[in-house]
Amino acid sequence: MTQEPIVKCLVWDLDNTLWNGTLVEDGQVEVDDAVRAVVEGLDARGVLQAVSSRNDHEPAWARLEELGLAEYFVAAHIDWGPKSDSVRKIAERLDFALTTMAFIDDQPAERAEVAHHLPDVRCYRADQARDLLDRPEFSPPTVTADARRRRQMYQAAAEREEHRERFDGADEDFLRSLQIEMHITEARAEDLTRVEELTRRTSQMNATGVHYSHEALHSLLGAQDYDVLVISMADRFGPHGAVGVVLIEKLPQVWRIKLLATSCRVVSFGAGTILLRWLTDTAARTGAHLAADFRRTDRNRIMEVAYRFAGFGSTQCACLAAFTVPEGTDCLHLEPTRQEPPTTMRVFAPALGGGAAVEWV
Ligand SMILES: [Zn+2]
Repeated sequence: MTQEPIVKCLVWDLDNTLWNGTLVEDGQVEVDDAVRAVVEGLDARGVLQAVSSRNDHEPAWARLEELGLAEYFVAAHIDWGPKSDSVRKIAERLDFALTTMAFIDDQPAERAEVAHHLPDVRCYRADQARDLLDRPEFSPPTVTADARRRRQMYQAAAEREEHRERFDGADEDFLRSLQIEMHITEARAEDLTRVEELTRRTSQMNATGVHYSHEALHSLLGAQDYDVLVISMADRFGPHGAVGVVLIEKLPQVWRIKLLATSCRVVSFGAGTILLRWLTDTAARTGAHLAADFRRTDRNRIMEVAYRFAGFGSTQCACLAAFTVPEGTDCLHLEPTRQEPPTTMRVFAPALGGGAAVEWV
């Protein structure tokens, strides 16, 4: 039997599900401690939560705020439309497959309506609420630092998107208004799970199409001639989390980029280009040449463009004799020159080989 996918978002009914009683009839409704613990527990595991309730929005949301629970919900559809519509819209907004969505409601008719229109969504009865934390589909095997703040990241993304829609001006000015920071750090063991997720998910932005396993990356963490770098970003709306990974083999004459992957979430911020520019500047300071393993896949053309734009080419150089690239993989080369830091974000990074992070200026 194949295991059911982990639930990424649970949509809660309110009356007689999240809280006891019916807001319109009972006025003061309360939430059991056990149910509150489930909301907090799912949040800590990185399972997002939303609301679909038949009520008037304002009083229902006000009650969630009074109860101290409003902040846990990334979306709320408190209206009189079909609940299957609410669940579908929430999934679309989060860009989640319906197979990763769940719905909990005390009303059999509501569960039947959702199950009929969205057969992939898992439906739960209200009396199952207390036991959700014990169920395997609500228990991700690992909970990374980014999973723990996933809700915060989605909420920040929503505010950022609103700001973008309201913003009237050039793209560069918009980026500057975000006050973005990029942090490049040497990967620690606890970063590896999210880094591995990144290399698996970012096929468009993965320069080699090679997926490094947790074990493969782990074995390189302490290695003298390798650097495993994690790139994370944040702006004034909140964290983006880990958005990129670079694996560099440092040979005496040349730094060989064996893996470079960035999240498609930050392509519009120019993250890949800025990362390459920082690497170019850092290599130029030490006098090393740069080489990059590149294997064209159906989906990573955008990465080739980024390399070419950064000046990498299919040139010959004596430094390339220091290693052999695998069959079917190209090697792009650059003799680096000093680069100006970007004007659209601040970049903080350690000198390669260790040390505290300093701002690239
Ligand atoms: Zn060279």
